[in-house]
Amino acid sequence: PTSDAQKSTIYALSTPPGRGGVGIIRISGPDALQVWRKMVKPHTAKGKPITNPTPWKLHRCRIVHPSDESNTLDDGLAVFFKGPKSFTSEDTLELHLHSGRAVISAVLSALSSSTTSSTPMTTSSSSAPPPTPTPTFSTLRPAAPGEFTRRAFLGGRLDLTQVEGLKDLIDAETEGQRRLAVRAAEGEVRAQLSSLRKDVVHALAQVEALIDFGEGEEIEEGVFEGAREGVEKVLETVRGYLDDHRRGELLRSGIKLAIFGPPNAGKSSLLNFLAQREAAIVTPIPGTTRDILSLSLDIGGLPVILSDTAGLRKTEDVVEKIGIERARQAVQNADISICVLSLPDILSPPSQSSTDTEHWRALVSPTTFFLLNKSDLLPPSPTSSLDPERLLSSLLPPSASTSPPAATSEVPTIPAQEQSHPPQNAWIASLSSGTGTQAFLNGFATALNARYGLSATADDAGRATELNPVVITRARHRDHLKAAQGHLEVFLEYGPNDVVLAAEELRYAARAIGKVTGAIDVEDILDAVFRDFCIGK
Ligand code: GDP
Ligand code: ZN
Repeated sequence: PTSDAQKSTIYALSTPPGRGGVGIIRISGPDALQVWRKMVKPHTAKGKPITNPTPWKLHRCRIVHPSDESNTLDDGLAVFFKGPKSFTSEDTLELHLHSGRAVISAVLSALSSSTTSSTPMTTSSSSAPPPTPTPTFSTLRPAAPGEFTRRAFLGGRLDLTQVEGLKDLIDAETEGQRRLAVRAAEGEVRAQLSSLRKDVVHALAQVEALIDFGEGEEIEEGVFEGAREGVEKVLETVRGYLDDHRRGELLRSGIKLAIFGPPNAGKSSLLNFLAQREAAIVTPIPGTTRDILSLSLDIGGLPVILSDTAGLRKTEDVVEKIGIERARQAVQNADISICVLSLPDILSPPSQSSTDTEHWRALVSPTTFFLLNKSDLLPPSPTSSLDPERLLSSLLPPSASTSPPAATSEVPTIPAQEQSHPPQNAWIASLSSGTGTQAFLNGFATALNARYGLSATADDAGRATELNPVVITRARHRDHLKAAQGHLEVFLEYGPNDVVLAAEELRYAARAIGKVTGAIDVEDILDAVFRDFCIGK
């Protein structure tokens, strides 16, 4: 593919097909200028053709058929980008056309009729073959999916994290996704990882110097110690990137939210409330059965995938166990959950309460939020003085709502004095009257952003803490960085007498980091990255 990229000229429609103000066809490669000469007829004062266009300047022009200049296909704009100062780093021509089915297909077929591949095949067996016409554009062919971006990568314009950022930017549906993607596309992740890799290579150079200079010198201890210190710093940074609460991955794929609670508390009402807000992107996720309803929502700029076990309602009375089991699975598979409780129910003495607290209490985790519903059923005066957090603490065992699950994290927890008050995790509202629902939504969005947003400041238990920057947005990144971490850790086990083995570990670590950005050994992972792109990107 690398050598082909240097030879062929690719073309594709880069805007969505269909009616629109502007449709752009991109042509990138050695024939781009030739396409200009054959197909672009600028409106010049004296009607003189422009064979060498001023690069990076828009020209009003007629777009004509390459084999018949009098055949005007469209009236539009053209701009020529002189390589390497173009997206692909090659000569690139952009034709800005009227976006309509006939115009676009006329220009595309004019391009394809002038390529090598369109040379008519002779089917007759005996008679003399007709002279094959020389194609106007000898290197031209339609682009493969993602091929423009692939050339930008091969041309050194972008690294892989920027390529992925670009793809995420196109796909971004929420503000949080856009912000995450734009940082990657701009090269922020590339810069962070490149500097990390440079530090590893620097340590490697120090260790290799020891190999070259041999043993026994007094100075060696210091040099090896220097490399060790450098690696320790890198390792700390890599660990920080890995300990990111998977915010990047969740921002890309959507945060899974489960709603649970006792029967009749208002779970379905909450689902409807969240789904019917005007601001919500409500798209049924393809492939979902009628049983499990999934909605993708935009809450505070964060993508949230809400799964409601619709079957739960039917079975909860009849086959209670099935319902409870389903709810348990939904909550366990989710990243966060909302427990809906009926306020009148939890305020009544246990003997009179219709709510069996055991079942929902077992599902409460550090990532559970609470909505205390049906406030309208309480007499007006005490409602305003109710503190949802205090109400809950009387219902829940002290450990359930405030502390993270024990011994699941390898990362040291922050000292107690640095922890501040957790953001609100419980609200009082009435889903039927609407009282308090907006405050709940705002508060929930704030809490979500504190936990999962790019500038998140909360740990798993909701305590404020300085969070590591989001670098990882894909399992691919995590795998390579974990590998790097492993090699750096092995390196630290070696001493100055194992320089050869130690250097090898550093080489592996540098390679693992390089795989994220595509700095080395890339061909095997290219296809995986570019596969998701569509044609014309
Ligand atoms: P689920 O079983 O938890 O899904 O609860 P539903 O959302 O189906 O609601 C159960 C019943 O409570 C329905 O009759 C709702 O109309 C009612 N309900 C829901 N929210 C409220 C509320 O805020 N106030 C009052 N008074 N009734 C509510
Ligand atoms: Zn329900």
